[in-house]
Amino acid sequence: MQAKFIVVTGSLMSGLGKGILVSSIMKILDMYDLKVLPIKFDGYLNFDCGTMNPYRHGEVFVLDDGGEVDMDFGTYERFLDKDLDKGSSITGGKIMSSIIEKERRGDFLGEDVQMTPHLTEEIIKYIEKFAEEKKADVVVIEVGGTVGDLENGYFIEAMRQLSLKRKVEFVNLTYVPVISSVGEQKTKPSQIGIRLLMQAGIKPDLLVCRAQNSLLAKIKKKLAFFASLDENRIISDEDLNNIYEFPINLLKQNVDKILLADLGFKGHKLDKKKLQDWMSIADGNTASSGKSVRISIVGKYIDLKDSYVSVKEAVHHASHALHVNPEINWVEATELTSEKDVAGKLIGSDGVIIPGGFGSRGIEGKIMAIKYARENKIPLLGLCLGMQLMAVEFARNVCGIRDANSSEFDQKTKHKIIDLMSTQVSVKNKGGTMRLGAWKAKILKKDSIAYKAYGKEIISERHRHRYELNNKYKKLLEDGGLMISATTLDGKLVEIIEWKGSYGIGTQAHPELKSRPNKPAPLFLSFIDAASAATQ
Ligand code: GLN
Repeated sequence: MQAKFIVVTGSLMSGLGKGILVSSIMKILDMYDLKVLPIKFDGYLNFDCGTMNPYRHGEVFVLDDGGEVDMDFGTYERFLDKDLDKGSSITGGKIMSSIIEKERRGDFLGEDVQMTPHLTEEIIKYIEKFAEEKKADVVVIEVGGTVGDLENGYFIEAMRQLSLKRKVEFVNLTYVPVISSVGEQKTKPSQIGIRLLMQAGIKPDLLVCRAQNSLLAKIKKKLAFFASLDENRIISDEDLNNIYEFPINLLKQNVDKILLADLGFKGHKLDKKKLQDWMSIADGNTASSGKSVRISIVGKYIDLKDSYVSVKEAVHHASHALHVNPEINWVEATELTSEKDVAGKLIGSDGVIIPGGFGSRGIEGKIMAIKYARENKIPLLGLCLGMQLMAVEFARNVCGIRDANSSEFDQKTKHKIIDLMSTQVSVKNKGGTMRLGAWKAKILKKDSIAYKAYGKEIISERHRHRYELNNKYKKLLEDGGLMISATTLDGKLVEIIEWKGSYGIGTQAHPELKSRPNKPAPLFLSFIDAASAATQ
């Protein structure tokens, strides 16, 4: 059977949780044993997310195949428990560059190349080919941005055209605010949103309404009237305990039955086991009566929590598996300018995480935080940049090399403990050229934290970096007491380092990217376990 499509658009503003809605729709269809895959369209002209600032855009997510994609992919993977590939990501830049390449090749000789039909057909062909190659039953297409934006107008038009030839279900996410002085749910913004969508030639089949509380019956009725829909197609998307509850909320509102009927799927049964498994994930992610574990995350994009969403999720997955309540203390590294600052912010931490990052801002604050954790025996987890800075801190404060640094931050230092990978030296273009995607590593020592955490010798995690631990300093660091517990299979790059005196582990990878609610990342489990032992 040919694949069916669900197109999810958003009205009025970003931040309503379109990625969570798409993930939840995929999850409930997956419970019916349908093969469902996402496509995310982002309107910006970047070719991919790799060159974007996480402070503005949220974290850059990395796939096994090295695709640098939007943070929504993290939510998709966590809900579906599937490894996706970069074919699911379309950006304005990618689609424009392919059309221009074709034009230069002469594919459109004699024609003037236009947004429609050329660009819109290019998009439709891409989507149909993707669905066919992947043998998907349903492809859920998330349209980034909001209806009415300049950036996604041609894509929304392509979706309208797609619906002329294929079965497409349109789902629109909108917002129903409450004005606090009146305390009343207001529908006017959504009415305007619906009108904008209709102006684009699209009538939604489902209207999902983000609101603080569930929608009142009279509000549903009003919105149904303006959207020309039955009231059961106005779906309430109210605040829940955690995002994993949303698929269950959709099931309660019969969204599964509506979608299956609209898309023409007959005879598919809800897999009770899959539902049960999901319900226990949703329950497990709600704060339990277990003891609290205070985890400090020392980063530099702290104002926008989305910059570290996978780290935060991984902490939650591991904590819930261990029946403890994580309390995250976000610490802005640039505000750590003295040891006193560090002690003030980190006191009472059961564990400290130094996440990944780029550029020199906040680096010295992070190094001071590592020193504080090491000296006070607070469990520490260093992720990518965090691991690199653990090595720098160790070289400076244990091995006595005062000017130890990474050449990313100090080109002139004599002691480049962290240096550009040899394969990176000749790289000129910044986009898509880091060491990206899933790479295998070999754990060298059975008595390491790493081996205990993974329980096996060969592991695979996702990477995104240009710099590495400089092999010239391996001996010096080891002589000083640092353990190098894993390297690449060929032994050329250091992958994991550990302290010996207390719990401290740094990985060149990003294990947070593979953490799933039902399969917490091994290093996070190990770290949270150590942190929770520290609270006793
Ligand atoms: N900036 C460092 C590098 O390029 C670390 C990257 C990261 O933390 N993802 O190697």
